[in-house]
Amino acid sequence: MRRKIYLPKRYDLCYPQVIMMSRAKWALAAWVCLLLVLSSHSAFAKKSKKKPSPPPIIVLEHLSTHHKLELQPQSGGGFSRRKMQEVSSFLRCHHTGQRHAMNERLVKILYQVARHYHNAKLFIVAGYRAPKIAKQKGNPRSPHKRGVAADFQVEGASIESVRDHLRSAYHNIGVGYYPNSGFIHVDVGRQKDAFWIDYSGPGEKARYTPPTLRRKRSSQVAEAGRDDPTPSVSDVSSDEEAGG
Ligand SMILES: [Zn+2]
Repeated sequence: MRRKIYLPKRYDLCYPQVIMMSRAKWALAAWVCLLLVLSSHSAFAKKSKKKPSPPPIIVLEHLSTHHKLELQPQSGGGFSRRKMQEVSSFLRCHHTGQRHAMNERLVKILYQVARHYHNAKLFIVAGYRAPKIAKQKGNPRSPHKRGVAADFQVEGASIESVRDHLRSAYHNIGVGYYPNSGFIHVDVGRQKDAFWIDYSGPGEKARYTPPTLRRKRSSQVAEAGRDDPTPSVSDVSSDEEAGG
C-alpha cells in the first residue's frame, strides 16, 4: 500500500511554479520601484524648474498725502522705469505738488530697510522738496531738493533702531536722527558717510544743538558777554553735511 504524503499548504505548488511566482512578484516589485523613482524624479524636476518666488511687496504710506505705494523690485533687484515714475509721483513735494525724478539707490535702500524689519510698512514724512520749501525750512542746500533724500519711519521699529541699522549696513549715505520729530532722514550720493542729530520739532527749522546745551550756552554767553559760543562736537557745521 502506497502511503499518502501530505505537504503543508505552502508546498502545494511544485518547485518550478514557486520559482515562477516569485519571479513575477520580483518583476512587479521592480516595476513599482521604477515607477516610484520616475515619478519622484519628475516631481523634483518640476520643482527645480519652478521659478523662484518674486520678492515681497512693501507698502509705503505718505503721512501728508495719505497715498500708498507698493514697491516690488524686478528679479535683478532694480525697479522698472514705470515704477520709478510712480515713486517720483508718490514722493513729490507735498507742499507744492512739484515732482522730481527720485534716485533709485534711495528707493532700493528704503525697500531693503523694510525687508530688514520683516517687510514692515514705511511711513513717509517727506521725499522730494521744492527748492523754495527747502529754503523756508532753513536748508537751501538740502539733498531733498535733488530727489536723493527721504524722511521716514518704519512701522513697529524705533527710530533709534532704524538709525543704527542704516549706519551699520550702508555707506556713502547721510543719516539724520530727529528725536523730537520722530523720524529718520536718509540720503544717498555722498563721497563719505554723514550723521547728524536735529532736535527740531515737527515743522520747525533745523536745530542741531541739544536744548540742554543751548541753555548752557546762553548762560555762558550772558556770563562772558559775547555771542560766539564754542561749537559743540555734536553740531553739524554746515548745512551741506546735514540733510535737513
Ligand atoms: Zn530729511
